[in-house]
Amino acid sequence: MTKQAKEYVSEVRAEILDEVDVVVAGGGTAGVVAALAAARNGADVMLIERGACLGGMLTTGNAGLTMYTKFSGPPELRIKDQEDLKNNPEDIQIVGGIVKEITEKLLKSGIGIGNEGTFGRYVFTSPEEFKCMLFQMMTEAGVKLRLHSMVTDVIREDDCIKGIILESKSGRQMIPAKQFIDATGDGDVAFRAGAEYTVGLTEQDVCAKHGKIGEMQNVGVMFRVGNVDLEQVFAYLEENPDNYIAQHFAQFTLAEAKERFQNNEMATINILTDGTPGRFQVYNLPTPGVVTLCCPQIKGIDGCNVEHITRSEIIMADMLERWMKNIKKNPGFESSFLVQVPEMGIRETRHIQGDYVLGLMDIYEQKDFEDCIGFGSHPIDTRPRPEWLNDPETSYPPRWYFQIPFRTLIVKDIDNLLVAGRCLSATHEAFGCIRPTVQCMIIGEAAGTAAAMCVNDNKSIRQLEYKSLRNTLIKQGVKC
Ligand SMILES: Cc1cc2nc3c(=O)[nH]c(=O)nc-3n(C[C@H](O)[C@H](O)[C@H](O)COP(=O)(O)OP(=O)(O)OC[C@H]3O[C@@H](n4cnc5c(N)ncnc54)[C@H](O)[C@@H]3O)c2cc1C
Repeated sequence: MTKQAKEYVSEVRAEILDEVDVVVAGGGTAGVVAALAAARNGADVMLIERGACLGGMLTTGNAGLTMYTKFSGPPELRIKDQEDLKNNPEDIQIVGGIVKEITEKLLKSGIGIGNEGTFGRYVFTSPEEFKCMLFQMMTEAGVKLRLHSMVTDVIREDDCIKGIILESKSGRQMIPAKQFIDATGDGDVAFRAGAEYTVGLTEQDVCAKHGKIGEMQNVGVMFRVGNVDLEQVFAYLEENPDNYIAQHFAQFTLAEAKERFQNNEMATINILTDGTPGRFQVYNLPTPGVVTLCCPQIKGIDGCNVEHITRSEIIMADMLERWMKNIKKNPGFESSFLVQVPEMGIRETRHIQGDYVLGLMDIYEQKDFEDCIGFGSHPIDTRPRPEWLNDPETSYPPRWYFQIPFRTLIVKDIDNLLVAGRCLSATHEAFGCIRPTVQCMIIGEAAGTAAAMCVNDNKSIRQLEYKSLRNTLIKQGVKC
């Protein structure tokens, strides 16, 4: 560490810990995969998480692993896709590497349930067991863990980060490292390092004039409810089929959905109900009698403003009380109760500006990038969206998918910091396609692999050759 950095550390009175090769800040969806990838590529890795467990939105937020395959398009092709998923998965899957490994582990162990074939479009899990599985994977890979530790500051000298500052029950500590990965969701490390960022809708967005500049996606929660009598739920829906609505991206008939719930397979249904919330979505889980319900949402909350988040938690508690009162009036839900309500789920905050900003047209037109590190296939879900994208069934070509360029991970003006997860460099519209869990995990694998390669070859991020990164990713089974 240089003299300047040491002076700063003594000024803020932090204990200096041993240097590691790679620090990953945030042990969530992208962070766990980044840490695994970096450690497996030979780096000494420290993963820092503010909570008590790993997985972020994947475990504590009850989100599923979604968007494994190219986006089907019209309903007829969906049926063909299901066959190809079983018989020719290579033609349709967009996911390999660590994401595939984690998914297979989840399905094999029964911690997760998924769609047909080796992979599905959706995998939903039992989060408590998933947390345990992630700890085991970190131990096997030799990742060092710091839980209950919040990254609160960074030490930056010129274009390099020298270390990050943590706050925990042990007080203030500083960890020096060669490479840093910001997987905090909100881009906290990049923000503290003074990186440029945008928030929500900006002038760069194609439909900027139709929305409010700064507008972000709603916050919300996917909560779990126990003691649900699913037999009664389906008996009621069979008698009242008008109260059943298929989920847009998993269009099962009522009979198919019933069979899937009975066979402990992944399925989701929407139920129309009187009063608040009018309609609610039910996800099947591997835990009998326990389902995930969603999605109460709140508009206009900034997830990086602590007053906003506090207010949103209080509003949500009230909303859920009202939701549950009415949900309990539905057959099968009479004796149900709240099992778990996660902390507020934040969909969108800072978009850290990288060497490349991924835009709507890059995605929609399936642009080729020589620094492609993985694929995505989630249709644009940010609102407002252009007129011509309003109907995903007709506006996307069949088997549509897009490329994610490595430069969207490289933080502008900083030589040893990568972002992974939802804070990567994209416009508000493009972000809507990048934010799904599987895409965040794909980005995590690229970030971890790249950081370790830089350490091994003593290079800065911008000196890393795209070709060599892609070759390594492909060897790891990543599709890119
Ligand atoms: C309500 C809701 C439902 C969703 N449902 C789905 C779904 O079903 N399918 C899907 O594909 N996507 C879904 N998404 C989107 C998806 O879950 C997220 O976009 C994605 O998981 C983000 O991954 P991430 O790694 O960037 O962040 P996270 O998974 O949130 O991980 C960030 C981690 O960093 C930690 N952290 C944050 N700040 C600090 C700090 N300063 N110091 C230390 N640690 C820190 C956090 O505790 C967390 O563990 C949903 C999102 C929401 C809000």
